[in-house]
Amino acid sequence: MRILVTGGAGFIGSHLCDRLIAEGHEVIAMDNFITGSPNNIAHLRDHPRFTFIQQDITQGCDVDGPLDAVMNLASPASPVGYLDNPIETMLVGSHGTYHALELARRKGARFLQASTSEVYGDPLEHPQKETYWGHVNPIGVRSVYDEAKRFAEAMTMAYHRYYGLQTRIVRIFNTYGPRMDIRDGRVVPNFIYQAVNNLPITVYGDGSATRAFCYVTDLVDGMLRLLWSEETLPVNIGNPHEMTILQFAHAVKAAAGPECTSEIVFHQPPPARIADDPQRRCPDITRARTILGWEPRVSLEEGLAHTIAYFRTLVKE
Ligand code: UDP
Repeated sequence: MRILVTGGAGFIGSHLCDRLIAEGHEVIAMDNFITGSPNNIAHLRDHPRFTFIQQDITQGCDVDGPLDAVMNLASPASPVGYLDNPIETMLVGSHGTYHALELARRKGARFLQASTSEVYGDPLEHPQKETYWGHVNPIGVRSVYDEAKRFAEAMTMAYHRYYGLQTRIVRIFNTYGPRMDIRDGRVVPNFIYQAVNNLPITVYGDGSATRAFCYVTDLVDGMLRLLWSEETLPVNIGNPHEMTILQFAHAVKAAAGPECTSEIVFHQPPPARIADDPQRRCPDITRARTILGWEPRVSLEEGLAHTIAYFRTLVKE
């Protein structure tokens, strides 16, 4: 197959490219490096079945030749990434998704939209099922991301209903692994950076907010199962093992080994986080289990070990 991955130099996009290349596909990755990095795809650059195009898909999205699938992952995705780039985030979810959908339509390709658990906002239903419509503040600081992704889902469904395009929507929950951006401010890179440098581990508030963390290779596996399935309604892909952020801080400290002397400290969250930070988040993955036969396989201990090993190599460089 010949597959376009927009956002291919991002954290998740680059792992997706790796998996597609390993499966024998031809991969075209597109990225403007707004939050992605050339380092994430450096190892693929000379591969005969890999091509990279530096392009901002808000300006247009085109490739020569046939395409079997377009996987639209282009977007800042961390709170720091989208709060630093609010207009670009809204444009890539709207104009960018439109351009990617048009390309898929012209080429007769399958289309997969990377959506997010953020479409559920600060959820009033727990755990979150795909049938939940969400609780998003349309003018909150996070709305640039949440509403862009909600628009992208609506646009994807419109192409499916109006043109009969083969579309898929994956709602991605918190994902972690090597190649997360150490500066993106998310809890996983923050805590790991702090633990491997014996710095205080900064839990915001009282640490009672919850998340559930999925290792990136599990996520990629779920995304590809969805792509090749016939399911056109959204499917949650995430790890249903919910924990508090305080429990997660202890897990990271333990995974960093006995040499880690970091203390766990409680901090006031940065101002942009106070209003909109979802308090609880955990996927209901019944649909992924029944429709795709998917569930996560990598334990938190194993995933953290791989991720910490990666961050240690960065710290040495
Ligand atoms: N968080 C924290 N310390 C940090 C970074 C984040 O306690 O140094 C908390 C944050 O307030 C939120 C959770 O960890 O409750 C997850 O935040 P993250 O930025 O990873 O992503 P989100 O799930 O909010 O998109």
